[in-house]
Amino acid sequence: MIKGLRTLIQRLDTSHPLYTKFSQELQQQEAGDFGEQHIIKQLQKLANTLEIVILHNISLPAPIPIQLDIVVITPYDVVIIESKNIRGSIQLKLKPRQLIRTLETGERHIFNHPEIQLEEYVFGLDKFFKRQQVQVDVTGVIVFPFNNAEIQYDEGQFPVLMIRELAHFLRQHVLNKQSQSKIPSEKIGHLLMEHHRVYQIPSFCTYYNIDPQAIKKGVYCRQCIQKKLIRNKKNWFCTHCKMYDKTAHHQALQDYRMLINDQINTETARHFLELPNRHITKRLLQDYCTERKGQNNQMLYQL
Ligand SMILES: [Zn+2]
Repeated sequence: MIKGLRTLIQRLDTSHPLYTKFSQELQQQEAGDFGEQHIIKQLQKLANTLEIVILHNISLPAPIPIQLDIVVITPYDVVIIESKNIRGSIQLKLKPRQLIRTLETGERHIFNHPEIQLEEYVFGLDKFFKRQQVQVDVTGVIVFPFNNAEIQYDEGQFPVLMIRELAHFLRQHVLNKQSQSKIPSEKIGHLLMEHHRVYQIPSFCTYYNIDPQAIKKGVYCRQCIQKKLIRNKKNWFCTHCKMYDKTAHHQALQDYRMLINDQINTETARHFLELPNRHITKRLLQDYCTERKGQNNQMLYQL
């Protein structure tokens, strides 16, 4: 999502009505990812002294499609971590369950309570294990990854922790379960990895309902990003960086695949890469794509 949104923003005019929305969406996704990375680092440190298996970004398509950011497999159970990288003054309230954030400016935003999502994940993972006939308890915890939030909350279904409390919480959690029989943590980790499927979204234009005509054409410099390259003697040249990049069109074709379609014909590619003729286009496509179908003018290249 982050890669796709970055590409989308690069190739969308700043005047596009959805430009601001996508920029905000990207910022949110990046903040979320940053928070998760931070939690993972802390967990890795903890793994030196506590027997845990850590998994990041697991998507299970069935029995209920779930996307788990962080999964910790302890010797006794599985803990799903729901990371919330939100700054400001946060109130987690029940009845109805809402997350209310107030910024220094007094501006208030209302979000879904993370518990609602976590409930769904715990339920989904529990169903998954039952279907696999693995006996293991699943629980969850909500973690704020940075010390940039002041939190007030009504006691809910799952513990709410600041990042610094997480290590102690997990140690204590494992200690409390010592009388129970152990689960095969590594085996369960492998089972989740085996059933993990990369989350596929169709092209971004389809997903967000954007007219592909709004996507900027051309081959862009991979160094300075902003500048369009010019075709010069079987090469691409950036007038800003004064650098040549023979395979710069690869990036443009990847952008096309991500934003518009995973197949392309010569005419569309010539137009998108802004090449002078179809012979050059055909040669570049033949070099880049290993798969193609159809014949002559109907030839479709798989990106
Ligand atoms: Zn450049």
